[in-house]
Amino acid sequence: MSTINPPRGTHDLIGDDSLKYLYVNEVFHKAAQLYNYEYIETPIFESLSVFDRTLGETSDIVSKEMYVFEDRGGDKLCLRPEGTAGVARAFLSNSLQRSLPLKLYYSGSMFRYERPQKGRYRQFHQLGIETLGIDHVLADIECLQMASHFLAQLDLQGDTELHINSLGSADCRWAYREKLVSYFENYKSELSEDSQRRLSTNPLRILDSKNESDKKIISTAPQLEASLSTESLSRFEALQSGLEKLKIPFKKNSNLVRGLDYYNHLVFEYKTNALGAQDALLSGGRYDGLIQTMGGPQTPGIGFAAGVERLMMLLKQTPKKLAPVAIAPMSDDANSMATQVAEVIRVQGVPTDFIITGNLSNRLKKATRMQARGIIIIGEDEIANNVYTYKDFATSQQKRFTTDDLRKLFSSER
Ligand code: AMP
Repeated sequence: MSTINPPRGTHDLIGDDSLKYLYVNEVFHKAAQLYNYEYIETPIFESLSVFDRTLGETSDIVSKEMYVFEDRGGDKLCLRPEGTAGVARAFLSNSLQRSLPLKLYYSGSMFRYERPQKGRYRQFHQLGIETLGIDHVLADIECLQMASHFLAQLDLQGDTELHINSLGSADCRWAYREKLVSYFENYKSELSEDSQRRLSTNPLRILDSKNESDKKIISTAPQLEASLSTESLSRFEALQSGLEKLKIPFKKNSNLVRGLDYYNHLVFEYKTNALGAQDALLSGGRYDGLIQTMGGPQTPGIGFAAGVERLMMLLKQTPKKLAPVAIAPMSDDANSMATQVAEVIRVQGVPTDFIITGNLSNRLKKATRMQARGIIIIGEDEIANNVYTYKDFATSQQKRFTTDDLRKLFSSER
């Protein structure tokens, strides 16, 4: 039989991976709700126009990574490559202008046709937050506070470094872009092929280059900060002092520009050394022009997205699942007692599972394999007396219990 593999760049979540996936999601849901973000779910496919104009025609995502297709009705659609543009689309589709400010969070699959490698997939998962309608540095600080709280809950703060930069207003960015182009023109022939292409399409992205000879040229390039207006600079300073007061460590990184067109003012990235080339764990920034680009009213926004698979790879241990109680009805006559007691225990928040076949020693072995905390045995004697024998594996003690006693025994779990 030939092996059937999943498509390149995709993977199944099974066993330890699925436990890690659920854990990272659960921690994120709790953190987002603690900061009063509301859950939003948008479709995994959207009209192509939701992404191509907003992310920028020259961004890597739009120019080479999107899964674009025409459906049977002839509509041009694509699998979503990221979450923010879909949330912005939902904001407009649902006429949420009157509900501003809005704090939304999401979790789900994203799709990018990239070359798969460690930490980089074609279908991956992102967790993200978006704050819409607040043009204030406090919203920027809260966004980073939430990100750092989330990473701390996963015990990953020590493995990450927060990089921040300000792109300033759209005007500052254009002024800087011009300076940058004329600087790089002097070194055009020495730049890598990718950077030469970006010189005419997206020159800021050259600053992101990992190519060694590019890096040398970049080290003496004009700095973005010198092109920032006084207003943009003081906003960036207010952010930094806010982070200092919260004791959130950060590093200013003037080469951090992010790949997408829609960012202005703050951009940031939590980076890690632990994943090789794929060093971005959680990335985001302010996008005050995005909703207008989609034809909506000018609406400020800020948010981030974190890569679930990369977070999972950094977890120090596999999260433990609650150990179940095994239930062994030793004959068919014991089945109704078994199903009833299972429900009594589950209502107390303790998982239970049946072990239906085999002799007693066989079933004890299966219970151990199931990593059960103990086993309830229901034989002829138990049926006659309407009681249950429970063997606790931690203490090796075995005792008889009534239904009420078992309810009490497991009620401490709630
Ligand atoms: P971006 O939307 O590119 O800013 O990415 C946000 C986060 O998603 C990154 O910081 C990564 O953790 C994660 N990410 C981006 N692309 C991929 C990918 N192809 N595979 C796995 N994770 C990714």
